Parts: sequence; structure tokens; C-alpha cells
Amino acid sequence: MDSVGVAAAAPDAGPGPAWQSKCPWGAPSTTSISCSLADVMSEQLAKELQLEEENAAFPEVVAAAEGPFITGENIDTSSDLMLAQMLQMEFDREYDAQLRREEKKINGDSKVSISFENYRKVHPYDSDSSEDEVDWQDTRHDPYRADKPTTTPRRGFIGKGKDITTKHDEVVCGRKNTARMENFAPEFQVGDGIGMDLKLSNQVFNALKQHAYSEERRSARLHEKKEHSTAEKAVDPKTRLLLYKMVNSGMLETITGCISTGKESVVFHAYGGKSATEDKVIPPECAIKVFKTTLNEFKNRDKYIKDDYRFKDRFSKLNPRKIIRMWAEKEMHNLTRMQNAGIPCPQVVILKKHVLVMSFIGQDQVPAPKLKDVTLSNEDMKKAYYQILNMMQQLYRECNLVHADLSEYNMLWHDGKVWLIDVSQSVEPTHPHGLEFLFRDCRNVSQFFQKGGVAEALNERELFNAVSGLNITADNEVDFQAEIEALEKMNEDHVQNHGKKLSTFSSDGDPPIYDE
Ligand code: ADP
Ligand code: MN
Repeated sequence: MDSVGVAAAAPDAGPGPAWQSKCPWGAPSTTSISCSLADVMSEQLAKELQLEEENAAFPEVVAAAEGPFITGENIDTSSDLMLAQMLQMEFDREYDAQLRREEKKINGDSKVSISFENYRKVHPYDSDSSEDEVDWQDTRHDPYRADKPTTTPRRGFIGKGKDITTKHDEVVCGRKNTARMENFAPEFQVGDGIGMDLKLSNQVFNALKQHAYSEERRSARLHEKKEHSTAEKAVDPKTRLLLYKMVNSGMLETITGCISTGKESVVFHAYGGKSATEDKVIPPECAIKVFKTTLNEFKNRDKYIKDDYRFKDRFSKLNPRKIIRMWAEKEMHNLTRMQNAGIPCPQVVILKKHVLVMSFIGQDQVPAPKLKDVTLSNEDMKKAYYQILNMMQQLYRECNLVHADLSEYNMLWHDGKVWLIDVSQSVEPTHPHGLEFLFRDCRNVSQFFQKGGVAEALNERELFNAVSGLNITADNEVDFQAEIEALEKMNEDHVQNHGKKLSTFSSDGDPPIYDE
């Protein structure tokens, strides 16, 4: 996706980012107004002056180019819900700070200390996962790995012998249903059913749920217009809140602005802050990839995910919002695999729902250029080519992945080498279309470097064999493609018959490693 410009630092802004040297509220107005006595007495003028003053004190928008997009102090507060949540968070933070002070006062230098930990407010940042949310905590371990043992069926009951309680137990179920009403939109009045031990039957609960959802959608439609006008940065209030929480928790220092808006994601730049845990270091500069929650763009991605057996179990049960989170989750796991193999790529910082924070490739808010946008010397071009050849092999063999969207658009040139990005759609080679994706990647890479004058660049068929270790001998595109599809079909048949994938396509030993 194309860059839409960066909130770049002014060249002469001195040390520190440009936004620091500028007041985000703008310079105070110094214009003096001269007028006659009659004017002074005029009600009209009084109103105008008042308005002017208010505008100066509360400018409507803080443009991204002039200051940070989100900091602890500035955030769009157009949504009441968001405002309320922000206030609550602020309150909780102060409360916790007070608690810490008291704890310190009581304990002093004493060897035995009392902890107030249990009295601390659970910060909403960590407590907002509801039932239908896939959160990074659940997925720190790559669930998409091929060699993952099959999961045991859920029992659906608790207890033993005559004390058995199934999940269908009426009382348990009724209480659960009542509790679940908490998940309805906050505008939806559910009353105090929890306090009075109300038990809702499934039928009643489902009817209520339907109603709550359609109400939510209706109100979303009403607000849509307003949202679009403020959504210049292409994030909805929920996402803004999520970003705000990251800043508020201190994990990020500031979110400075937008690096890129694409059809499926928006990428922001941020300065890193401090990590809550000591073992983790937040990079000084971060990129935040927000996967868009407007669903229609993701429809054309179905073929990547629907056929990916890593997703098979989960796909059918999920609602579209969860599927989008899975893209983010998948990007995280794929980046982690790449990082482990030593492939230059962004390092994952944190995943929160559909928002992935990673290290920033670039410097001082300026992202590294895409390979398509840099002019490299012949020598660097050749170096880049061999590096990519190597990375493709590593990706295939060590990470068990095919990039599936590899081109000069998704490779950045930074620090004298190529960095791979944008791997949410990457699949394992045994994906029903995995080899086709690989072939397409090879075609993009070959064409780019052949056009770029790298005489050594293999053609797409040679590159495909070099990466996959397969030995497809067809000497023309059509036959080659046909053989690839035949291999994929063979694999699928194997799955049908044995209920299991071939672990790899490679049959004749390791592919040759190409080195400089
Ligand atoms: P999309 O699916 O929108 O193409 P990408 O992951 O390719 O998403 O990101 C879009 C653009 O954002 C990239 O082309 C790159 O310019 C920029 N970008 C993404 N991640 C990073 C990063 N970690 N560091 C620097 N720039 C990045
Ligand atoms: Mn991209």
C-alpha cells in the first residue's frame, strides 16, 4: 500500500522530535482588537470575542502533521463512551498511585512488608477481554504450527458421578446468560439482573442478544456519518481507545502520525515508552499496524485463510471481527517465526486485538523506503538479490512459510539490507495454494531483479526450484504451473485419505543454498 506521507520532523527543529517544540494547541493569539465605544457595548461583538477566545483555548482538531496524534493528553473525545472509559482509567491510575504511596509509607524500611496488590484497580487495559475476544495472552504460542497435537474434545461438563453438572444445567446456564448481558453494548439497558440472581433461559437470552446487536448496529449506522468525518486517520473509536490505552499505560510514549493507509490496514508511527515487565524492552520507535475492521476488504482474502488447515477448526466458528483479529495474530506468529530464523523483519512488541505493535524499520519517524522506491547501486542491487534468495529459502525451510505477497512493495531497504514485512497472509507451503503463491512470489522477485539489471537473477522457475527444493523440469510457464497444481492436488488427496498433510513437498533432499 502506498504511503500517504509521514509527520516528518522539521529539519531545523533542534534536538527531539518536532512536535515537542511546538505547542499542540497553537501559539497564543497576539492580535489586538481596536474598536469604538459603540462596538464595545455591542452584544454581537461580545459574542464574537467570546467565541474567538473559546476557539483559541480549544482548537477543534490537532492535525497530525503539527503534533503527535495521540499522547496522554490529547485524544479525540467525540465519543462519550470513550471519554468515560478514559476518565475511569485516569481515576484508576491515580487511585493506584495513591495506594502505592500508602503502601510505601506503611512499609518504610521494614523487612516485613504489606502488599496492597489486591486492592489495586485492575487496569482496564488488561481486563477488557470478553468472551468473544482472542487476545494475545491466549496465543503467545503459535497455534498454527503444523505439528501441533490435535486438541482433545471439550468435556462440556464438570463434577463426577451423581454430582455431574453439564453446561446445559438450567440454573448454571441461566445465571451465565444473565452475566453475559454484560457484553451487550453499554447503551443497552440490561438492569440489575446480576444483583438479583436472575436466570435467563437460552431462548430469552438469545432474543435479547439479537435485539441488543441490532440496536448496536442501528446506532452504529446513525453515528457512521460523524465517524467518517473524524475518521480521517481511518481508525474507529474502539481502536482509538485501544491506542490511547497503550499510551496511557506508558508502553508507548506518543503516537506521532500515520505512515500508510491501505485497504486492509493503517500503519502508525510511535515512540516507544516503558514496558510494564522488566524482561521486555520496547523499541525506541514502533510501527503500529491496525487491521481494518471494515469487513468487506477482507472478503477477497478468503482464499488464503479458508483453505489454510491451520485455521480450519477456528474459521467456521468465528464471526468476522474475530477473523480480522486472526490476521493480526497470524502476522505476529509469522514475524516471530521469521525473527527466530534470523530473517530481518520487524520485531513483535505486542498484539492487542486487531492492533499489532512492532519495531519500526526506519529512523526519526521516517520509514525505510520500499525496494520499489529506492535506487540502488548495481552492487547493492546484486547484494539485495542474493539476500532475498537466501531469505526465501530460510522462510520456506526454517519457518515453513511462503510469504504469499512478496514483491518490491513489501520489502524495505534499511541499514544496507532488505527487510521483509507484511506477512499476515503468509501460509505454510502445504496450504492448498501454497506452491502457487510461492510461484507468484518468485515471479515478482525475478522480474524485479531482471529488470533491475541483475544478470545473475534466476528466472521464476529456477527460483521456485531453488527455494522449494522441488525439481520441476517444465521449461515453460504453463506446464510449470500445471505441475505445481498437480503437486498441490496430490497433497490434498493425501489429506483426504490420511487425514494429514505431507509434512513437506521436498522429496529429494535439501534445496541448494545460494550464497553470495
Ligand atoms: P499493507 O497490508 O497495508 O500493505 P504493510 O504491512 O505492507 O501493510 O504496511 C504498509 C506500509 O507501512 C509499508 O509499505 C511500510 O511502508 C509501512 N510499514 C509497515 N510496517 C512497518 C515497520 N515495521 N516499519 C516501518 N514501516 C512499516
Ligand atoms: Mn504491504
